[in-house]
Amino acid sequence: MRVVDLIRRKRDGHELSRDEISALVSGYTKGDIPDYQIASLLMAIVLRQMTRAELAALTEAMLHSGEVLDFSDLPAKKVDKHSTGGVGDKISLILAPIVASEGVFVPMISGRGLGHTGGTLDKLESIPGFNVNLSLPEFRRVLKESYCGLIGQTAEIAPADKKLYALRDVTGTVESPYLICASIMSKKLAEGIDALVLDVKTGSGAFMKKKEDAIFLAELMVETGKRMGKKMVALITDMDQPLGRMVGNAMEIAECVDVLNGGGAPDLRELSLQLSAWMFYLGERAKSVAEGYKLAEQAIASGKAKEKFREIIRLQGGDAKVMDDPKRLPQAKHTVEFTASQAGFVQSMDCERIGTACVVLGGGREKKEDAVDPAVGLVLHKKVGDEVAAGEPLCSVHYNSDQRLEEALGMLRAGYHIAPVAPETPRTLIHQVIGT
Ligand code: URA
Repeated sequence: MRVVDLIRRKRDGHELSRDEISALVSGYTKGDIPDYQIASLLMAIVLRQMTRAELAALTEAMLHSGEVLDFSDLPAKKVDKHSTGGVGDKISLILAPIVASEGVFVPMISGRGLGHTGGTLDKLESIPGFNVNLSLPEFRRVLKESYCGLIGQTAEIAPADKKLYALRDVTGTVESPYLICASIMSKKLAEGIDALVLDVKTGSGAFMKKKEDAIFLAELMVETGKRMGKKMVALITDMDQPLGRMVGNAMEIAECVDVLNGGGAPDLRELSLQLSAWMFYLGERAKSVAEGYKLAEQAIASGKAKEKFREIIRLQGGDAKVMDDPKRLPQAKHTVEFTASQAGFVQSMDCERIGTACVVLGGGREKKEDAVDPAVGLVLHKKVGDEVAAGEPLCSVHYNSDQRLEEALGMLRAGYHIAPVAPETPRTLIHQVIGT
């Protein structure tokens, strides 16, 4: 096999075989094929797409580039949830304790913030002492004891994706639904799960801005998972405004505690319950999604989910007292109110700009090596449809350094659209369910 011949074939729109794809992935992972040839191949894939057979071969080759965890000895189903990323999306940290507290295992391998979106690992690390870098044996021990483990990708899990993702990031080849599908599914299938619930975001704060693109990606992922014997469902959900009221790592942990205490913003609570319901159903803990929803509500009402989160934090080395006293989480030194320049209604939000405002304050990374400030962020007092008076706060900005405060405020100014009349269409939280 000459790599250049395979690149040419893909460039010209022909199909590569399973063996060819497998050889390319293993050759690249081992370092036998250089970056420039794989970059060229990736661009050919972006432009020429992939057949379903090619996608299956790529996903499997990436999955088997590393360890595939086996939790089949554990005495209940293992179910995970994956979100394609959004602003204020802290749902994993509400749903994992809910689902684990009712006896379904949740082995969750999460990511860091990407672009304007937040990441579960960054949020967890805002809890003093919380260790997301457990070894695989430690992960297994914590999972067995508490029914939940929350870690980052290790060197052993899908190493091909680690290399390919870094290359895609700098070669303009992230935006292919086929490559995104293979990247996400290879990591999730390595977790040793029986079922996976996908939360595919669409809207101004999502990577898939158009609903049809989100649906296409969701269908690819559901099909890929099912082909590999997993129970799958994808919910296409709204990311035209942030989820909940808090954006920022430590502040989002405090908001998760609010929801687990029975409070929290309605959209955040509702989507957490809906996704938990699907996890209970696919994990065979509930006979229907409706029964799963009730179970999730009970897990919050009884305090079981809150106690589970406390246990998870303790087992992973974190300060579990934050559950009773969120002020133990990092706090920003300063707060400024961002106010409405005119009276009216919040007509829409450019959610990507709102997320970027938080990144600019230090809550996310602009370069890979940047440190994240866990304390900074936004409290959204007004969201789409809310009425606002001139001069009334739209959101509070929590910050530590005023170096880029003006830039962040500029993002918020561009991110809030106020109009004299209320928006016509009511907001839909869940657009579509795929895979049932
Ligand atoms: N998240 C991933 O893990 N991979 C992608 O390609 C895009 C988002």
